[in-house]
Amino acid sequence: MADFDVDLFVIGGGSGGVRAARIAAGHGARVMVAEEYRMGGTCVIRGCVPKKLFVIGSHVHEEIEDAAGFGWSIGQVSFDWATLVANKDKEIARLERAYTANVEKSGATVVKTRAVLEDAHTLRLATGEQVTAKYVLIATGGAPNHGPAIPGIEHVISSNEAFHLKELPKRIVIQGGGYIALEFAGIFAGFGSDVTVIYRGDNILRGFDEDVRKHARAEMEKRGITIITGCTVTKVDKHGEGFTTHLSSGSSIASDQVMFAIGRHPNVANLGLETAGVAINPANGGIQVDGWSKSSVDNIYAIGDVTHRTNLTPVAIREGHAFADTVFGKRPVQVDHATIPTAVFSQPEIGTVGLTEEEARAQFSHVDIYKTDFRPIKATMSGRDTRVLMKLVVDGTSDRVLGCHIVGDDAAEITQVVAIAVKMKATKADFDATMALHPTAAEELVTMRSPTARHVRQAAE
Ligand code: FAD
Ligand code: NDP
Repeated sequence: MADFDVDLFVIGGGSGGVRAARIAAGHGARVMVAEEYRMGGTCVIRGCVPKKLFVIGSHVHEEIEDAAGFGWSIGQVSFDWATLVANKDKEIARLERAYTANVEKSGATVVKTRAVLEDAHTLRLATGEQVTAKYVLIATGGAPNHGPAIPGIEHVISSNEAFHLKELPKRIVIQGGGYIALEFAGIFAGFGSDVTVIYRGDNILRGFDEDVRKHARAEMEKRGITIITGCTVTKVDKHGEGFTTHLSSGSSIASDQVMFAIGRHPNVANLGLETAGVAINPANGGIQVDGWSKSSVDNIYAIGDVTHRTNLTPVAIREGHAFADTVFGKRPVQVDHATIPTAVFSQPEIGTVGLTEEEARAQFSHVDIYKTDFRPIKATMSGRDTRVLMKLVVDGTSDRVLGCHIVGDDAAEITQVVAIAVKMKATKADFDATMALHPTAAEELVTMRSPTARHVRQAAE
């Protein structure tokens, strides 16, 4: 057998790569991880973590406004963007150090450089060194789509830059109607920016439950976010410090920043994939893998966003862990990609697990809907004009809960726990048999007695 420098070479020190490296090293493998930017990857450095810190910070504004109804009289308040960014950077630097230390503690070696494939077993580092590996794991993640080459595209920022702006923009235009656009719309609006969202379709959040889409949009509009649908950005002009964004509808908007959040693409370019014989999935542009995350080359695997399956951190981590257990731990594990809970940390928050009503009605002949839309208890005293949406999608034949959709405070936290029940194939009767916990918003999920709609598909003639 050929003698290799390492048993496993991981390209990319993000969520998936780090987990795979640590677990493989724990199984006794000699592991090297290459990271070209910062250890921790997208989630830690410019994704989930700094985003959540910004969301938490931007929420304070609403808390202050709501406090008056509870007797608080809060004097003059002010917000300093520079302090927020500096403190966030400090926390991210701490996490980066912790990620590096944990990988090294596991016995793996970290090299802070770009790595590319020269052939199926040989890596070339940007330092010029060559490393041979028995197995290679590609965990290079993804990057923001820049969008069509419209005039002025060079003035447009992505989420990467949004984390490092020198000043809070007084006005910002954000193109996109998905996770990142809506999360940043909430962040900037919470900190006091005037936010306009531009979305090409008829309503934001395509692919989410229709009731969620309508409810979330209405709630965001109540919070002062302008949402313009049915058009795209065609041109961005810069004037001094400001910009004019031109829309396909013919109108234009003045702002201090323009951001696009129009999806992400897998980092597959210039990695040496062609020379190593690694195939790309023509359907999504990611690395083609089987259920074991194995690529078209026997000793090369790929996990996380670079495969463009489900681009979420816990999924990348699971895939990395399963790979390491399968290849180095003598414990074959495949990741179950069904029923993955997800949340949009917009304001209000959206949590969802399982099927939407539309998906369920396409797959099941009898679908019962349990839906409630109510004023949360806090709003009764704060006076805030807001409503929470909770919806269960149930298979009318087996009584199984197929999906749960929530828009409102703590939707993500609630959805994480409901996901256990949905994954366990709990029935509506199981939900009903569960005692309510009062007073909570989530108790609605176990107290909705009668379906609000019942859909029975007629048998085909
Ligand atoms: P990454 O974490 O992207 O790591 C890939 C690493 O590889 C990077 O560090 C990169 O520098 C490195 N790399 C690339 N090429 C090379 C090379 N040739 N040599 C060496 N190193 C290389 N997911 C959630 O679950 N919840 C959230 O709330 C959430 N929020 C997000 C917010 C934003 C703004 C963004 C952009 C993403 C968010 N995500 C969220 C998605 C999540 O960040 C990704 O799904 C996750 O980071 C994917 O992990 P990964 O290991 O596949 O790739
Ligand atoms: P999304 O896929 O969520 O949304 C992209 C949006 O941009 C959609 O509204 C899409 O419209 C629109 N769009 C796409 N192409 C164009 C175009 N050429 N012109 C105008 N609009 C366009 O991607 P994001 O960038 O928001 O996020 C990327 C991924 O990162 C997410 O899908 C998710 O997997 C992950 N993520 C997860 C988070 C979380 O878990 N909370 C947070 C942030 C990111 P249409 O719907 O019509 O295609």
